[in-house]
Amino acid sequence: MLTALLDIFFPSVCAVCEKDIAEGPLCETCSVAFDSKKIRSPLCLKCGDPFISIEGSDRTCGKCLTAKIPFNVARSGFIYDGAVAESIHRFKYNGKVILAYPLGALMASCAEALQLKPDVVVPVPLHIERLKARGFNQSLMLAKILAKRLGVKTDCSNLKRTRPTLPQIGLKHEERAENVAGAFKVINSLAFKNKNILLIDDVLTTGATIRECAKTLKKAGAEVNILTLARAVKS
Ligand SMILES: [Zn+2]
Ligand SMILES: [Zn+2]
Repeated sequence: MLTALLDIFFPSVCAVCEKDIAEGPLCETCSVAFDSKKIRSPLCLKCGDPFISIEGSDRTCGKCLTAKIPFNVARSGFIYDGAVAESIHRFKYNGKVILAYPLGALMASCAEALQLKPDVVVPVPLHIERLKARGFNQSLMLAKILAKRLGVKTDCSNLKRTRPTLPQIGLKHEERAENVAGAFKVINSLAFKNKNILLIDDVLTTGATIRECAKTLKKAGAEVNILTLARAVKS
């Protein structure tokens, strides 16, 4: 049903100011605002965290050198700040689902620029209780639009949340990992075995949730790359 809806309505509105535009995903003014939040090199080759210093080239950060990483690369399009944060907030919390189109299109451009060629796109699942409260899974909507642009399938039923988790906000780093440990499972491992999966979320904060998802997918035999629209970056 969602796919059908996505096909019927394909409006061109700017992802920030919602002005009608002939060509998306952003109006000229908002393009400038988004561009100023674009994540650029130098960044970590694995986790995609940008380095504070603008000098030097991409390299692996200290954390990724020592930790076990369950994905090939993780990347985000933009810093979660300013116009970017504002549009995601309106999409996610103010129910402006129309913004899924321009935001999903921006993610597709990121995936293309990174030459990520997944077999299947998988959104981070929401627990049913959270889904009921919000009415939609923002990651699923973004994944559908992104996958459509890339010409690949979305799988939104094979990776499941097995239990509700506390909101990650307000939890310490270790508590966040603990909060989501074992919270996901793959229903049919064979369907993901040897598949190149692009795992999608709207915002990466500490990355504990999406890492746990990646770990679960990897255990099922998949190769995982991560793409989020935005990422919280310490300034
Ligand atoms: Zn605009
Ligand atoms: Zn790293």
